[in-house]
Amino acid sequence: MTATAQIHDPIYDIDAIRADFPILAKEVHGKPVCFLDNGASAQKPRQVIDKIRWVYENEYANVHRGAYAFSENITAAYEAARETVRAYLNARSEKEIVFTGNATAAINLVAYSYGRGVLKAGDEIVISDMEHHSNIVPWQLVRDMTGVVLKVAPISDDGELVMDAYRALLTDRTKLVAMTHVSNVLGTVTPVEQIIAAAHDVGAKVLLDGSQAVMHLPVDVQALDVDFYVFTGHKLYGPTGIGVLYGKEEILNAMPPFMGGGDMIASVAYEGSTWADLPAKFEAGTPQIVQAIGLGAAIDYVSAIGLDAIARHEADLLSYATQRLSSIEGLRLIGTAAHKTAVLSFTLGDAHPHDVATIVDREGVCVRAGHHCAEPLMDRFGVPGTTRASMGLYNTRAEIDTLAMALEKVNRIFG
Ligand SMILES: *Cc1c(COP(=O)(O)O)cnc(C)c1O
Repeated sequence: MTATAQIHDPIYDIDAIRADFPILAKEVHGKPVCFLDNGASAQKPRQVIDKIRWVYENEYANVHRGAYAFSENITAAYEAARETVRAYLNARSEKEIVFTGNATAAINLVAYSYGRGVLKAGDEIVISDMEHHSNIVPWQLVRDMTGVVLKVAPISDDGELVMDAYRALLTDRTKLVAMTHVSNVLGTVTPVEQIIAAAHDVGAKVLLDGSQAVMHLPVDVQALDVDFYVFTGHKLYGPTGIGVLYGKEEILNAMPPFMGGGDMIASVAYEGSTWADLPAKFEAGTPQIVQAIGLGAAIDYVSAIGLDAIARHEADLLSYATQRLSSIEGLRLIGTAAHKTAVLSFTLGDAHPHDVATIVDREGVCVRAGHHCAEPLMDRFGVPGTTRASMGLYNTRAEIDTLAMALEKVNRIFG
């Protein structure tokens, strides 16, 4: 078997898929771009780019306002995107799908509205030791304003949640568990069914951060019985500026509004105002109209390929990359969970991750270096940062070879 041999999957036409992404044909420093930073943001297929352009060129207007055709059409397209997201997550109702600016905004919405509006001093929130800053800092702000207690569930050296320790943190004061579904640094897929069941046993609600999950594996919020689920559009091959908050209807109904303004009201008077029904109650102001429509196109794109096919392709990349990188001298993988997505974080000898990323960039390879918005996790592993290669649906074994050769070059420079 040659190093670059791709397992032949008749239904996974990698060349056709790559041809959908115009940017993948570009060069950097005279080398074909080898984009392995999908965990930070994914590239966009022509289907998404064309959809956005089509809307701006053909029927752009504000939503929910005009009685004229452009406004009616774009309102229908915006609400159709919501239905696409609903179906993608298998939510019960479109009322449970709130569009936000990104995952960070979605978590902050829950932190402000549920955290500050519903939780009380002495209540407890449990997070894990592998959260993105977006799922740490909003809860710290809640703690500092309300006096709730923030607890952190530990992870093992492999990067897996220590379930016994997690269960031991849960008490009848636990009101919310906020955890990642897939770690952006380690690729760990957390045991969400058990996490949710244990939290519900003590009467706590659960928020899952699906920012690194929804592009790799199917999510069924009803089967999970999860209370809140958030993700960000730009990592799911959609545009920037769009995120999603799923929340159970009865919980969202009981929560106070987060931001006030246009679109979120039923009526306004100086003595007091009343709120619009879900989901408008949480979408104050002109929403992310075209971004939401672009996200809908991205979900259609991913669904047409099929998450099962994508998962098979990425599992092949993960096992190939794990084997290939493990053979590189001085390379230490950080994150070796039994169940993980195609993300490889590592250190390489004494080379600083920023130097590694800069050197491999000369070979056209795009990887992320640093703390990956997870400083406490870096502390957990005793490293200031890592280099991270994160794969997506269009990556190939040949690109892993390019990465490996570039890393060997780093070793020659520092060795
Ligand atoms: C990227 C990411 C976020 C934040 O996404 P934004 O688009 O920056 O809001 C949150 N959590 C995880 C796990 C992420 O990977």
